[in-house]
Amino acid sequence: MARFNADEIDNYGGQGGGGFFSLKNDKDVATVRFMYNSIDDIQGYAVHEIEVDGKKRYVNCLREYNQPLDDCPLCAAKSRVIAKLFVILYDVESEEIKIWDRGKTFFSKLSSLCARYNPLVSTPFEIERNGKKGDTKTTYETYALDTDDTTLEDLPEVPELLGTLILDKSFEELEFFLDNGYFEESVEEQAPPERNPKSDRRNSTSREPANEAPARRRRTPASAPTEDKAPTSRPTGRRRTIANQDKF
Ligand SMILES: [Zn+2]
Repeated sequence: MARFNADEIDNYGGQGGGGFFSLKNDKDVATVRFMYNSIDDIQGYAVHEIEVDGKKRYVNCLREYNQPLDDCPLCAAKSRVIAKLFVILYDVESEEIKIWDRGKTFFSKLSSLCARYNPLVSTPFEIERNGKKGDTKTTYETYALDTDDTTLEDLPEVPELLGTLILDKSFEELEFFLDNGYFEESVEEQAPPERNPKSDRRNSTSREPANEAPARRRRTPASAPTEDKAPTSRPTGRRRTIANQDKF
């Protein structure tokens, strides 16, 4: 299971989009606002967990649940897909935006809150930890405080998670990572975060102009892109996965 607790949270890099929220000890409390109006604002992420420069990082999974495994190099390499909710909070005390790393089951909790408090952001909540440090059965209670007129506009801007907290890599970049264990930095600087990164990324990394009729199809190793530039350290396109070994 790719789970981690508050003690391990410092291992997770990717600052720049706001720090992680954590309550470290039993009965610790914090007052927060959930940075959402309604349940429609809340987005889950399918991610993989990888290690980059000795730090655990989340990286965006490239395929939708109904796409074949081969559409994402990490899926094809049997890396587990984790459904995550990165809950965006406003920490009332520190006056900062923080990210609360939760599993997908937290959706139903937020759904219940949204049904009762609308817009959700207008009600601050006290969050209480129930569980000792390191206890994997730790739960969190939310207690509503007085609703006021606060809107999202009154609070700091919500950071973009893709490309900061969650690495946002192209198919080729992930293949390179699988082959080499690191990302090429120059490539990492590209790709500005967009509202629909999945489709945008596919298009932006597609360097062959016309002959790729279905833009969303990934290239098979046989038709790996022909690079105009010096192919010094580009990935070969072949994936060294256990699943594919019998083919080679
Ligand atoms: Zn994947």
